[in-house]
Amino acid sequence: MAEAGSFADRVKQQADIVRVIGEYVRLKKSGQNFTGLCPFHGEKTPSFAVHPVKQIFHCFGCGKGGDVFSFVMDMEKCPFPEAVKVVAEKCGIPVPRPKERTPEERKENQQRAALIEIHREAQTFFVRQLESTAEGRAARAYLEDRGLNAETIARFGIGYAPSGGDALLRQLKPKYAEKLLVESGVISRDQSGARLFDRFRRRITFPIANESGKIVAFGCRALGDDLPKYLNSPETPIYSKSNLLYHMDRAKEPIRRQDFAILVEGYMDAIAVARAGIGNVVASCGTSLAEPQIKLLGRFTKRVIVNYDPDVAGQAATERSLTLLLEHDFEVRVLALPAIGDKKADPDLFIREKGAEAYIKLLKEAPPYVDYLIARARQMDLSTGEGKQRALNFLMPYVQRIPNALLRSEWASRIAQQLRVDEPVLRAALNKSAAERRSEVKVAPQLVGKPAKQIERRLIRMLAEAEGFKRELAQRLQHGRLYEGLETEKVFAALIVAGLSDEPIPATEIGAQLEERERRVFFEILFEDAQEPTWEEAESCLDALRRRQIEQELAKVQKTIEANPSGAGLRELLERKQELMKQLAAAG
Ligand SMILES: [Zn+2]
Repeated sequence: MAEAGSFADRVKQQADIVRVIGEYVRLKKSGQNFTGLCPFHGEKTPSFAVHPVKQIFHCFGCGKGGDVFSFVMDMEKCPFPEAVKVVAEKCGIPVPRPKERTPEERKENQQRAALIEIHREAQTFFVRQLESTAEGRAARAYLEDRGLNAETIARFGIGYAPSGGDALLRQLKPKYAEKLLVESGVISRDQSGARLFDRFRRRITFPIANESGKIVAFGCRALGDDLPKYLNSPETPIYSKSNLLYHMDRAKEPIRRQDFAILVEGYMDAIAVARAGIGNVVASCGTSLAEPQIKLLGRFTKRVIVNYDPDVAGQAATERSLTLLLEHDFEVRVLALPAIGDKKADPDLFIREKGAEAYIKLLKEAPPYVDYLIARARQMDLSTGEGKQRALNFLMPYVQRIPNALLRSEWASRIAQQLRVDEPVLRAALNKSAAERRSEVKVAPQLVGKPAKQIERRLIRMLAEAEGFKRELAQRLQHGRLYEGLETEKVFAALIVAGLSDEPIPATEIGAQLEERERRVFFEILFEDAQEPTWEEAESCLDALRRRQIEQELAKVQKTIEANPSGAGLRELLERKQELMKQLAAAG
């Protein structure tokens, strides 16, 4: 990935992998390596190793491994260019400004920068309105009434859009082209197209930031009874509703640390939960969760507690989100808050009325999604056969998605019990749907293969590192096709290509071309304590492979002879057998 001579390559040359990883993992020197507790899987004894000379890491437990960039990509859940930047910054290497390739790209970048600048100015404007105008005071009173104090207002950048209709426009108009202002979504154009005006009027404003903390949109709530109650920015070149989760910029660190996220519906809910001291909360800002949002979340955790509004729309949204989350392999729990009096409680209302501690307690007890769904099914009319069938039809698609057969079976018993359905009938239905499901499920590749044999391991190590003769070795292996049929054949193939190339190719790059199982074997071999290889040793390993090759052919010839002792080609076969026996004797 780091092309020779590129910035990434220079960073890699200069970066000290032990120092960079040492910022995330407590490392101890152990022999030639450094070891520590793997940050990618839970463990009590260290199986995570960093090699200072080869500049690679490998976990002997979970199999993760790579170079300094892949480590940072996994830890920070960021793409490669971002990881290069992070490493460069950690090592004090100045990062060059990216060059735009085409005039269109340059124009797009300029436009995006201008749109972000407009949002920054609008944000400053809204905040000032809330702080220092008469109208703003009324808005503050409303916020205080909802339990938001000055500190929270400042922390979440809450502001106010005045009723006038052109106050923001007047501020922005001298600096930006009309077209750009309309594109930003904070300014609208009337139907005749002649007049511009502020999109948000007499509304509380909540800035919506992208993942890196730049404000790209606003969510606004009407102060009075104006409709709609909530009005948000339209889709713009810098904002797409389905690509963004509210509060993600601040939540990503706590989410990664705690390895779970709380998903709520609106920004007021996210603010309420975050204020309660729970930082790992994000809002979908809208009732349905979109696939890009799930992918975004999945970069930080695969565990989520869904806490949507308890109304009908919220329930439907919860169930739609469940389907999507389960399809993306999330471990899902559902928090359905109890009503307060006769009011259905969203997280905001619940925390205001019952306090943060009560909320945290319920959060901890939030049941797995299947329990939630059974509870929902039980609310249906179960007194008739049809009603039960409806409840089963509601549950089945979810239960089907449980990948683990044992778990699925447990749930079947519980559902049968709770819905008072005949268990064998239920199981039959479940097995049928599970069978249908199986046909779609691909078998996961076996991650841990048999350990490679000693000769293969030595040859792989030499091919990767014996600077003096690895080219010669690659040629011999290639020429005699000696590695074909070995369990590590693919590792050999990649190393031979690398060994015959004129450019030196680093181990991590070779690893990146391999399947996970092969890469794992390869890295484990690189981490083995081993003596300096010699050409003599290489030759004896080659001899062993040659013998193996002859033996295999011999066995094949013998089998053919036995299968057809009076066949036409018998003479040739016997001659070939003699020849092979001779070769075997010569090979020692
Ligand atoms: Zn691990």
